[in-house]
Amino acid sequence: MKDKIKVVAFDADDTLWVNEPYFQEIEHKFCALLEDYLPHHDVSQELFKTEMKNLHLYGYGVKGFILCMIETICQVSNNTANLDLVGKTIQLGQELLQKPIVLLDGVVEVLEKLKGKYTLVVATKGDLLDQERKLKNSNLLDYFHHIEIMSDKKIEDYQKLLKHLNCAPENFLMLGNSIKSDILPVLELGGYAAHIPYHTTWAHEEQVQSIENSGFLQMKTIAEIFMHI
Ligand SMILES: [Mg+2]
Repeated sequence: MKDKIKVVAFDADDTLWVNEPYFQEIEHKFCALLEDYLPHHDVSQELFKTEMKNLHLYGYGVKGFILCMIETICQVSNNTANLDLVGKTIQLGQELLQKPIVLLDGVVEVLEKLKGKYTLVVATKGDLLDQERKLKNSNLLDYFHHIEIMSDKKIEDYQKLLKHLNCAPENFLMLGNSIKSDILPVLELGGYAAHIPYHTTWAHEEQVQSIENSGFLQMKTIAEIFMHI
């Protein structure tokens, strides 16, 4: 494997920097806004159902999340909620769009050591403008040869990325926290994929399964990559 890898791609949210805890914090505040209608947990479930229903229309990211929160207000209040709640929800969404970028442990050290030896790439889902903002505020842009902000992370999306990079799957290593989005499609294509779990994962990305694939690396921290390349 050591000699084969030419391109190392990194997922961004919860791999390079903190993301899911921010969504959870905002969701918590949103559920509190609706506690006159439903208990916290039920609002949360309703919101998740709405997100799953709309994913094919909105894609991933904060703006779709805001629309889903507003739709959830309509649902749980049976269209009787005061517009004030919508205003507060939009404020919550805008708060989420302005969260600081907190890099995860080891990220800078890993990028610093890999720079120049490999072509480094970011492969992330989410809203274009928001992901661009996060990348800019991360101060990591100079490490990367290419940034791919993807609508989804399915096999065909990775195929497109590999084609763009003119990279064969066996020369490609992806690092990320989501088994479903960062690992399985890459292994399926014949590439290498390293899973670095984050302490919390969005329910939609959660996938528990054992993976039998010679291209798969299970790591505890991002720095463990140096045991493999
Ligand atoms: Mg991620």
